[in-house]
Amino acid sequence: MLYTRSSQLFAEAEKVIPGGVNSPVRAFKAVGGTPIFVKSAKGAYLYDEDGNRLIDYINSWGPMILGHAFEPVVQAVIEKAKLGTSFGMPTELETQIAALAVSMVPNIDKIRFVNSGTEACMSAVRLARGFTKRDKIIKFAGCYHGHSDSFLIQAGSGAITFGTPNSPGVTAGTAKDTLLARYNDLENVAALITANKNEIAAIIVEPVAGNMGCIPPNKGFLEGLRQLCTDNGILLIFDEVMTGFRLARGGVQELFNITADIVCFGKVIGGGLPVGAFAARAEIMNYLAPLGPVYQAGTLSGNPLAMAAGLAMLQSLDTDRAIFQRLEEKTAYLAAGIEKVLKANNVVFTINRIGSMVSVHFDTAPVVDFQSAAKGDNETFKKFFHGLLQEGIYIAPSAYETWFITDALTYDDLDFTIQAVDKVSKTF
Ligand SMILES: *Cc1c(COP(=O)(O)O)cnc(C)c1O
Repeated sequence: MLYTRSSQLFAEAEKVIPGGVNSPVRAFKAVGGTPIFVKSAKGAYLYDEDGNRLIDYINSWGPMILGHAFEPVVQAVIEKAKLGTSFGMPTELETQIAALAVSMVPNIDKIRFVNSGTEACMSAVRLARGFTKRDKIIKFAGCYHGHSDSFLIQAGSGAITFGTPNSPGVTAGTAKDTLLARYNDLENVAALITANKNEIAAIIVEPVAGNMGCIPPNKGFLEGLRQLCTDNGILLIFDEVMTGFRLARGGVQELFNITADIVCFGKVIGGGLPVGAFAARAEIMNYLAPLGPVYQAGTLSGNPLAMAAGLAMLQSLDTDRAIFQRLEEKTAYLAAGIEKVLKANNVVFTINRIGSMVSVHFDTAPVVDFQSAAKGDNETFKKFFHGLLQEGIYIAPSAYETWFITDALTYDDLDFTIQAVDKVSKTF
């Protein structure tokens, strides 16, 4: 397949947009080559500017769980647009989507809508700090909570006392309030809590990690976090921007029957429009302005087009309860097929999967945290990525990304993908 026009368009974009992209994950930095420019998409397929059709395993990084240009969402947006695209005043639609979300997700009474997952996580932490009157938070290495300052903290020695900023522009003052823990390591978390007694406002976690490949929590990890939070007056924030309305109707809280104090959403909840949200029991949410002292706002928050798309998406997921089962079956089928051919071709690999999230790592050791995820062989991944691209299959251009399975994929698409993996892995 040729990607000539995409390369030309990228050269044009680079002149006026830093790196040619509006979000770094879209660049092909880790795999080489130039990004594919999309013209349109429908169902499970992307159509690019060179006229290629690609089977899409990113799906806008998660939102398109029912496929691209999903009819009910498209219709809802068109109808709303005719009535005006933004008012900066309340609409009934906002109450409708809020009520539906509250009915679908366990343990939340109220929800506030924002414009991105980043905003949701940033606001959730501010709310937790205001509510507990404490400053510090614990986050896990390899978990992504958007690009606001407090979250851009990576590894760093002395994490028990000071985090180290890993992006210039994040001040040392901000970094020192973010403590870093190892995913799936409860003892590490307990030690941080002991060393910072009565100072920690919240623990924020991807309850199933999806930003270092797909890493499910070890048995007892989330339960342990819940207990540590309860015992120490800390709020547990589940960042379900990726997992919410994907792994189950009510997200990971429902899947594993664990109660979080604040839950963050994004991606699926907006049906492909820019939407984020955070939610909690009333006692916590009432701390937000205008009811309470914690300020949070947004000119375009609750935008009618975005809410119409989100409502149509949630209604579809709420009505057809079999969707999650179907997604589980399709993803299990794909993972088993890939496993079989990689094994037959003597490739060194590990596959992680839960529900409709799956990741292939080119390393044999179990991938359970950032350290083990980072060990994968990137040279093999590059061959894998470009090999699949030549076969018309689009996975994320980074070895640390999860594949997002959409209900629009057919078993023919999955079989085609497994055959392509077979062909490509023979060239490793
Ligand atoms: C994508 C993501 C975010 C950030 O959401 P944006 O809409 O990109 O700002 C936050 N947390 C998790 C777990 C995510 O996957």
